[in-house]
Amino acid sequence: MSTDPFDAAVIGGGVMGSATALRLARGGMRVVVFERRGLCMEASGVNAGSLSPMIKRAILIPHAMRGYEIWQNSRKHLGLDIDAHAMEGLILAYTKDEAEELETIMIERRDAGCPIEMIGPNRAKEIEPGLSDQVVLAAYCPLDGHGDSARSGLVFRQALVAAGVAVRDHTAVENVERTDGGFAIHSDAGTAAAKRVVLAGGAWLGRMARWLGYPLDVRYKINQLVVTERLPPVVRTVLGVSNGMLTLKQAENGTVVMGGGWQGTGDLDQGGTGIVSDSVAGNLQLGRYVIPALIGARLVRSWLGMEALMPDYNPVIGPVPGVEDAFIIGAVRGGWEVGPCLGQLLGDLILGLEPDLPLFDPPTYEDGEATAVNGYGL
Ligand SMILES: Cc1cc2nc3c(=O)[nH]c(=O)nc-3n(C[C@H](O)[C@H](O)[C@H](O)COP(=O)(O)OP(=O)(O)OC[C@H]3O[C@@H](n4cnc5c(N)ncnc54)[C@H](O)[C@@H]3O)c2cc1C
Repeated sequence: MSTDPFDAAVIGGGVMGSATALRLARGGMRVVVFERRGLCMEASGVNAGSLSPMIKRAILIPHAMRGYEIWQNSRKHLGLDIDAHAMEGLILAYTKDEAEELETIMIERRDAGCPIEMIGPNRAKEIEPGLSDQVVLAAYCPLDGHGDSARSGLVFRQALVAAGVAVRDHTAVENVERTDGGFAIHSDAGTAAAKRVVLAGGAWLGRMARWLGYPLDVRYKINQLVVTERLPPVVRTVLGVSNGMLTLKQAENGTVVMGGGWQGTGDLDQGGTGIVSDSVAGNLQLGRYVIPALIGARLVRSWLGMEALMPDYNPVIGPVPGVEDAFIIGAVRGGWEVGPCLGQLLGDLILGLEPDLPLFDPPTYEDGEATAVNGYGL
């Protein structure tokens, strides 16, 4: 086995780290991925699997459209099928205020390249006959769908191995130190050397950044999902509610998956530890309000996942400020869909190529305050 330093060490094997490592290896670098669990067992493997470009912020629409295409054709791009299904999507507003806000946001996203159309309640009901009568306005997008996020680890593992990446899973990194030639990666299985390092720690990104003295102020949410028993067809689109509290879709096996703003409990040391019954009840109530056929449906499962986000909701993708050859990627809301595209772009940057879509420079801090970066403002 070579004792030469790796060209790049990626720490965190979720969708962001795996997609970055894949691009680097396909670009000719010798790459290692460190993942303390299995690949994509945190957010990237427990998310709701929505592939919905229209729920991404305008600055991420081009990236989301590309991510959508990659997952929909994952066999071609990654070698294995993620079991993606293309469907139509609707986001629903139930009050005049919600409708005004929805229209403003959706026009911005349409201008950014997402094929969104604003439609009235009658047309929404033609598209989704199961809707309740209270809809005031809807945003419609023909490009929507879902995939089986639980397959992410399997898909990326075989792609990474085929590309020659050393996958060190069940290996927790404890610290990263600057050395003359690059970085020393200290893990619970020993120390490895790499010329470059990529931090891709999801909700744990702030802890990783501190290894390099970078005080990234990243937060996290503990998202809670619920799943019903198998039902006859009750919904044929991917649905969202404009206040962000609900996404809802029915899988081919008949189960309906619901999530959104409903939170569980936990922390960075223990992960998601507590299903919150009020969140389950609120989620179900809202689901029934949107699709009345869900009244009487039994819930069979609920689980939690940790999602990172910045106070300004901007993604963090680029060089770590002040640390040469160190890079960071994460804090992307709804990042499963976009991850394969974002990893490619960061990989291009590290390979010395010009990324063909913008990245999102990590913020710099003065006296603990973030200062504006990259033109998107704070
Ligand atoms: C419940 C839920 C539902 C969601 N629904 C959707 C959806 O429908 N559609 C969508 O597009 N997005 C969705 N998201 C968001 C999406 O899942 C995330 O944005 C995305 O998966 C984040 O990827 P990541 O690689 O940054 O983080 P993660 O997948 O969390 O990966 C980070 C990895 O770093 C590893 N790690 C941490 N510390 C260390 C260490 N010290 N050493 C080694 N490894 C370490 C972790 O084990 C983890 O595997 C959802 C998120 C959640 C939680």
